[in-house]
Amino acid sequence: MKFSQYHISDRIKKNLHELGFLKPTDIQYKSIPSIMKGEDVLAIAQTGTGKTAAFAIPIIDKLYTKRRHRDNKSVRCLVMVPTRELAVQISEVFSKIAKSLPLNILTTFGGADQTIQIEALKKGVDILISTPGRMFDLRAQGYLDMSETEVLILDEADHMLALGFIKDIEDVIKHLPRKHQTLFFSATIDEKIKDLAYSIVKNPIRIQLSPKDPVSKNVDHQVAYIEMDDKRFFLERMIREKIESKILVFVRTKVRAERVAKAMERVDIKTLTMHGDKHQEDRLEVMELFRKGDIKVLIATDISARGIDIPGIHYVINYDLPDVPENYVHRVGRTGRGAERGHALTFCAPEEKPVLEMIQGFLGKEIKQMEIDKSDYRMTLALTEEVNTNWQKLLDEAAEMKQKKRKKKR
Ligand code: AMP
Repeated sequence: MKFSQYHISDRIKKNLHELGFLKPTDIQYKSIPSIMKGEDVLAIAQTGTGKTAAFAIPIIDKLYTKRRHRDNKSVRCLVMVPTRELAVQISEVFSKIAKSLPLNILTTFGGADQTIQIEALKKGVDILISTPGRMFDLRAQGYLDMSETEVLILDEADHMLALGFIKDIEDVIKHLPRKHQTLFFSATIDEKIKDLAYSIVKNPIRIQLSPKDPVSKNVDHQVAYIEMDDKRFFLERMIREKIESKILVFVRTKVRAERVAKAMERVDIKTLTMHGDKHQEDRLEVMELFRKGDIKVLIATDISARGIDIPGIHYVINYDLPDVPENYVHRVGRTGRGAERGHALTFCAPEEKPVLEMIQGFLGKEIKQMEIDKSDYRMTLALTEEVNTNWQKLLDEAAEMKQKKRKKKR
């Protein structure tokens, strides 16, 4: 079924067409009808499946067809998200789908100046997208009118719990009118998430996508065994070979991010970095440069993994393995978005094997291994343009020494 056959406003259909959204993705196909009926929904969907539009399309249609009363200054739909990047990204999706419709969309998050936001809230906002902390602050200060809120959406609820937002979420929910619709989206589900979900949704429609394999079918993902100290040469080779491709590289810490960026700089490869130490303005600038493709390699930590929705990321490289197995899913979910195909490659050093095993346990299957034969491995080290380091020569010398020692023993 195509979007043109849905019972949604023609203007929304036109906007979807412009976005290139012709047919619903799996999650959209499964959740849009229930959301349109006004039912509560509990959806377990991985990133990259089109889940934002799954709730944005029916909610925009609902708010557009049933207009706001002039005197009503209450926010009509609250969207809670874990990070500022996700807030910005979701708000873009809402704005594009609601283009030229008379709906006010506001995005807020911690750190941003409140003044303009408060003015907007006073005039009346249809859709507020915010982190729970900022939502809590606005409510506590009396700026957030929820007396007639119709819809509450929690996106990436698992991530919000992990970040310790539970109290803020509970506080906001307490102030909602008794009758409202709740849409609960989470990438993973465990007992804690279930408890939270069932404490706020009523007889929900449960939607789960391919629970056996949390990695999207669109992503071809493999692991390559590479020594820790050699990883940078493999990254360098990979970037040079895929010069036209957008590559997202994940590392464990911000220090590592800067270090890998420096290593690439030494061999004349331009990269961007994204981690918790970046200021809000820098983050937005970095995302814009990467989005436009001005710089094709972004080195990021897990903090930013979920907030990155850049179309056309061809490769995700796990330069370091993630600390938490489920972050593997979030990382590789940055490629192969929507209808695109994606590739992910994990560089696994011998000391990281136990972590790899945990990830494979979490996925319920082994990750395909990319075989690198010895000569290819050596060639990668020799190919580097890093000055003063002729690795081939060093390796040859080491091999020669070994041989000499052996001869001596005999
Ligand atoms: P999400 O899971 O919401 O982060 O969406 C992942 C990507 O899928 C985004 O880049 C969307 O632009 C894209 N997308 C969402 N719905 C569709 C659709 N029906 N057809 C094609 N692409 C889509």
